Amino acid sequence: MGPMAVHGGSASVGSSGEGALRRPVVLPFEGDGYAVPAPWRTRHANYGTEGLVGAVVRASRAVASEAPGGQAAVGDLSRRAGGESVQHRSHQSGRDVDVFYYAVDAAGRPVRLTDAMLHFAPDGHALRWSPPQGTRPPTRPVPAFRFDARRNWAFVRALLGDPDVEVQWIFMQRGLAAALLREATAAGDDPALLARAAFVIHEPSDSEPHDDHMHVRLYCDPGDRALGCADRGPVRWWKKLWKYMDAPYGRPPLDALGVQGVAALGRLFREELPLVFTGGKQTS
Ligand SMILES: [Zn+2]
Repeated sequence: MGPMAVHGGSASVGSSGEGALRRPVVLPFEGDGYAVPAPWRTRHANYGTEGLVGAVVRASRAVASEAPGGQAAVGDLSRRAGGESVQHRSHQSGRDVDVFYYAVDAAGRPVRLTDAMLHFAPDGHALRWSPPQGTRPPTRPVPAFRFDARRNWAFVRALLGDPDVEVQWIFMQRGLAAALLREATAAGDDPALLARAAFVIHEPSDSEPHDDHMHVRLYCDPGDRALGCADRGPVRWWKKLWKYMDAPYGRPPLDALGVQGVAALGRLFREELPLVFTGGKQTS
């Protein structure tokens, strides 16, 4: 019996930019520490692979338990059968999800965004509304909200530490990504985890800068590759649980990170933590 015979779960077929989703798993509109805001519910794009849906649920729950009061606002995953949509060039194969940035008010209290995303300046203050495509922005003034580095980092850390999935990319505007990594550094998080985050977080060169949401893309589940799942772009394999393993299998020594990795780490710890890995063009 080959892997196809025992593979009964979801299947991501093709690539993010040209693919489909078989036996989709639905992300319920509400769960522990997350919600799909109302305008996004009508888009019927809350389907993903088992891995992606599980990862979103687990990361939201982790943030809610670590820093109670916040709520992840989850935008689009894929449509029920995947494939093209008017909103996205990618999101076709159940391995992409948009998550609004967690935000806090002027007093530092967590807030919930229910009808629109917010664009944030590189220094983290809210600039303007980012309404769903085809709709008008809210008429109320832009609130004095700020990018919530603590919760956004907690969400990213939970994704990177999830033993059931491998994150390929997290698209973020680079100033916001820098704030995230500063937060991680200040929190005393494992430098190896920071290094990995610095590889994975990326401002795409061919699309919007992602200053209103993070776009998470997972690698193909190993079981899906036999079914036609295809990873595009640079593939950097990080073995599951690598951070728990000893060298040379686990945490890579600096020279194992390669030239770009070392440069990235150097910038990370020396300067203002600008990002970082500039791989090939990525469709977001
Ligand atoms: Zn996206």
